[in-house]
Amino acid sequence: ATGNAEERNSANILLTGTPGTGKTTLGQELAERLSMNYINVGDVAKEKELYEGWDDEYECPFLDEERVIDELDDVLRQGGCIVDYHSCEFFPERWFDFVFVLRTDNTNLYNRLEQRGYSGKKLEDNVQCEIFQTILEEAVSSYLPSIVFELQSNTPEDMESNLCTIEEMVKRWTSNKR
Ligand code: ADP
Ligand code: MN
Repeated sequence: ATGNAEERNSANILLTGTPGTGKTTLGQELAERLSMNYINVGDVAKEKELYEGWDDEYECPFLDEERVIDELDDVLRQGGCIVDYHSCEFFPERWFDFVFVLRTDNTNLYNRLEQRGYSGKKLEDNVQCEIFQTILEEAVSSYLPSIVFELQSNTPEDMESNLCTIEEMVKRWTSNKR
């Protein structure tokens, strides 16, 4: 088995975007509504200590990307997964049927991150990351542009509309499989 899309009967989704854009909020609700398997990569890494080395600049450990992939490959092969992470270029391309990049307006994001306790360089860097659409560009250069979708994530109405959009797309994917 190679883990190609042909071999799974339910779609795999990647939710990515700058920290604070709403990946976890959307991902958990989506998993509940669609009975999918929600996977928070940051939490998995923490739980299994999948780190290598130390980032002096941000004072946090570097993710051991190879071990993360090894850890999650079996479950991703089964399909029906929602993966939540703020970066996207290191995952195997074959894992995903849809890549959604959440986007939030600067002021909004600034306030959310400040509420989370971010300040100084960490806060500025994350807001800049969003202004420069770093994650969107990373997604478009790492996956087929035809599976990458940008979603606005500013208001509860946005979230509701994103839930509907994704639900529709997943249902269409599933019925095309049959
Ligand atoms: P991420 O997982 O991308 O870091 P979170 O899901 O933790 O982001 O959301 C960050 C903050 O923004 C939370 O306080 C959450 O309640 C809020 N939030 C997320 N999505 C929306 C939205 N669509 N509208 C308003 N607030 C949101
Ligand atoms: Mn999160």
